[in-house]
Amino acid sequence: MDSWLPGYTDFTPYCFIGSDPSIQVADLIDEHRNWDLVAISTNFGQKLKIPSKLRIFVWKVFHNALPVTAELNRKHISDTPFCPLCKAHRETINHALFFCTRAKEVWHLSHLTFDLKMAVTSTPDEFLLYVSANTSSFEFESFLVCCWSIKFERNAEYNEKLTKLPAAILAFATDYLAKYQAVHAPTMNSTSLAGPSTTPAPASTMVPPVTPWTAPPVGKFKLNTDAVCNKALGIIGIGADLRDSSGFIIAALSKSMKGCFKPEEMETLALAHTLKWSINLCLSAEFIETDSLMVVQGLKTAFTCNSTFHTILKEVNYLVSFFPRAQIAHVKRFAKTYAHVLAKFALTVDVDCSWLEEFPPPLMTIM
Ligand SMILES: [Zn+2]
Repeated sequence: MDSWLPGYTDFTPYCFIGSDPSIQVADLIDEHRNWDLVAISTNFGQKLKIPSKLRIFVWKVFHNALPVTAELNRKHISDTPFCPLCKAHRETINHALFFCTRAKEVWHLSHLTFDLKMAVTSTPDEFLLYVSANTSSFEFESFLVCCWSIKFERNAEYNEKLTKLPAAILAFATDYLAKYQAVHAPTMNSTSLAGPSTTPAPASTMVPPVTPWTAPPVGKFKLNTDAVCNKALGIIGIGADLRDSSGFIIAALSKSMKGCFKPEEMETLALAHTLKWSINLCLSAEFIETDSLMVVQGLKTAFTCNSTFHTILKEVNYLVSFFPRAQIAHVKRFAKTYAHVLAKFALTVDVDCSWLEEFPPPLMTIM
């Protein structure tokens, strides 16, 4: 344990998505031997364009560390586990942020596209990961600011201060994020030198196009695969996840291979290895998705060519015959964040990893 602390330099993070691959665990701990939230958010959450006080709020939600009565009651600090506002349900983090009377109205008014019902059966960390995997960065940031505004207003109501109506909470959150991002966007800063206009763009024009992961119908399963390469080390990483209609991960794979391949060869190899892994574990899938259009088209076309790509395609064709009802489709990369993260994770470890009915730890880095 001591080897983690500043002064020792042997330990590196299990996995991360920051920009500095040489970072050590000690770099994430401050001189008081507490986690350095700024260093952590810089290296693990750099994609989020939100103020640091919100990062701390998100960190607390993710680690189930917000003071809610269900949790305080469990620790014998509060007499009751019930919500102090609606008094009808236990005040868990998910109740406070998503299901208490006013929170529900805020989400009803918002145009965010994820399924809020997922929060009924998820822990806060699982739900955040689900939302982050199924929304664009901007939508996820909007979602987090909304959660924070809802919690802020709950505190105000509990302390008998004047509180906002649901529409006003939503408007405040949208405006707050737009102003923060306008001030912190490098391009906007440089253009502001040319003239006095710094009015932030309306929220709707700032949302990038997105193809979220779509769930298979009830009772069916979807398999997503992806491949990434590290040319310098000459290895490719393969990632796969099998999810059910609620988005829950039934199984996941993270596997590395030596060699350098063309993109379409990598994606076909990822598919071949994922199918073999599924067959070995007796997993079924009615829907299979890859981000290589060439692979999907190749599988639909008769061919006589003997290139590396076509040789692997033939193997995939054979392996697919074990999934007689499966449809193979092409999806854009951002529709399958899980498989992509698992593929990237494979580049950082020497062993293949496979998870069954448990949340794969590498996906925590999506945060
Ligand atoms: Zn309540």
